Amino acid sequence: MSVKPVDPLRLDVAALAAEHGEQGGHWPLVDLERLAESVLPGETPGAQVHWQVEGDLRPQAGSAPEIWMHLTAQAGLAMRCQRCLGAVPVPLDLDRWIRFVPDGSQAETLDAELEDDVLELQRWMNLRELVEDELLLALPLVPRHDACPTPLPMPADDEPAGEAPPAHPFAALAQLRKKPDA
Ligand SMILES: [Zn+2]
Repeated sequence: MSVKPVDPLRLDVAALAAEHGEQGGHWPLVDLERLAESVLPGETPGAQVHWQVEGDLRPQAGSAPEIWMHLTAQAGLAMRCQRCLGAVPVPLDLDRWIRFVPDGSQAETLDAELEDDVLELQRWMNLRELVEDELLLALPLVPRHDACPTPLPMPADDEPAGEAPPAHPFAALAQLRKKPDA
């Protein structure tokens, strides 16, 4: 196990796996721009993305060992509820095993075949981009409260449909029109 600090923006996945190394850290949400744009960063000021990786080399009979990385990440974010338009907490908790292969087309084939993610092994990997990609994929497509807070936030002058007399605006207009003649 390695405790040597690494630059997560230039991560040597092969070395991490060879050493069965573990690394971890955190980034401010604002450093993950695409993710920050997809959520309501103002609702979770100071939000951080925590990440941990662990390399693993899996011996194979008769061939080179497989390179694997266990990735976990956590973030407490907020999105706009599609029902009441209020902020809804979106806790994210990633837990992925990713296999790395030297060949890009092999990675695509295996990624389609296997349940685990398969990526092409690069000399240096930007772990932050990978974590951001995974978190973006983990965001709910239609964020919603399980039960929206009541009362639902509504503009003060917005009366429930059916109770407001539809002729009201015209009646008010008619009153205004009458005044000069009165
Ligand atoms: Zn809601």
